[in-house]
Amino acid sequence: VNRSLIPLGLTLLFLSNASGAFGAVVTFRATGDNGPIDVTAAVYHKESGDYVSLNSVCAQIGAACAVQPTRLQIDFHGKSCWVRTNDKQVNASLSTFSLEKPVLRQAEDALVSVGDVGPFFQKAFGLAMSKTTARSAEEPANTDPSRLDDEPPLSEIEVPASDRLALDSIVIDPGHGGSDAGASGQTVKEKDLALVFAETLKKELESTLKLTVVLTRQDDKALSMVERADIANRSEGDLFISIHSGASNSPNASGFELFYSTPAGSLRVDRSGVADSRVASLRRTAKSKAIAQALETAMVKAADSRARGTHEAPIRQFNSLSMPGVLIELGCLTNTGEEALLQTEAYRNKLAKAIASGIDAYIKGGAGQ
Ligand SMILES: [Zn+2]
Repeated sequence: VNRSLIPLGLTLLFLSNASGAFGAVVTFRATGDNGPIDVTAAVYHKESGDYVSLNSVCAQIGAACAVQPTRLQIDFHGKSCWVRTNDKQVNASLSTFSLEKPVLRQAEDALVSVGDVGPFFQKAFGLAMSKTTARSAEEPANTDPSRLDDEPPLSEIEVPASDRLALDSIVIDPGHGGSDAGASGQTVKEKDLALVFAETLKKELESTLKLTVVLTRQDDKALSMVERADIANRSEGDLFISIHSGASNSPNASGFELFYSTPAGSLRVDRSGVADSRVASLRRTAKSKAIAQALETAMVKAADSRARGTHEAPIRQFNSLSMPGVLIELGCLTNTGEEALLQTEAYRNKLAKAIASGIDAYIKGGAGQ
């Protein structure tokens, strides 16, 4: 697992905002490696000033933000920082610095003051992020009330049954590769296990479900996230499955885990077509979730290890995908028992068959609706 990709226990502000709470919005432009990213965040008015959700900002720039009861940690491009809630001091890998205002806890989220957003990401990650516009609740940007209707609440995002059936070609992405080894166990590296398993899964899906399967890599080479998404999009896959395995500080941690990605796109929509991409993204997320759940159900039946659940998380790589995506952590390499298990062909076959039967169940479930 790449911890900068997968924040555990993250909740989504996107979804709570999608159900309402428009009005005060602030936008930033982050200048990242792959060009500018526009970030839009709802403004929360607090006694000490205006704040925005760190979860929301992080999700949009592809950073992982894990909010714990008394502190939060953000991972971005291999750099990391943490800050206690109600504290101004940020402990980052680059430096330790102080914010103007303390970071606040709000439900499962953390809030940072609007004025601190730029300095925070600049000092912690070297990411230039400047405020592009600010709107107040008194001066709502949404001057056309019908615009709010452009974005349906997530509960109304449905995946048509015909769309469910369209799973003819699958792109399997063996995680990591080349100089990026991923997690390491005693004897196996995540990148190697991912490739071996991807090949097993490919054969299984081709033989039992007669699906067309494309691998993003067939040897030990490094691929960027953009390259992986490009390969998937060019091959016009109906589903992207990224294969990973995890590591933990606790040697007892074990089990498999599934993730699907937070919807991409901005919170606000307009009539210039952005609304459509947002809805498309929401629909992709809904479909990814349904598939991940079907896979989990099948894997629970077959696997010899613990089920750690299916989670939503901002997976930056998936933002550029034109198809639904699921990330599977096969198990935990720092658990010696599970590492040994994953190195047996019999167990890998078992997991591959389970994933195939989960896809089959999903397709048949669609047919039954
Ligand atoms: Zn990984």
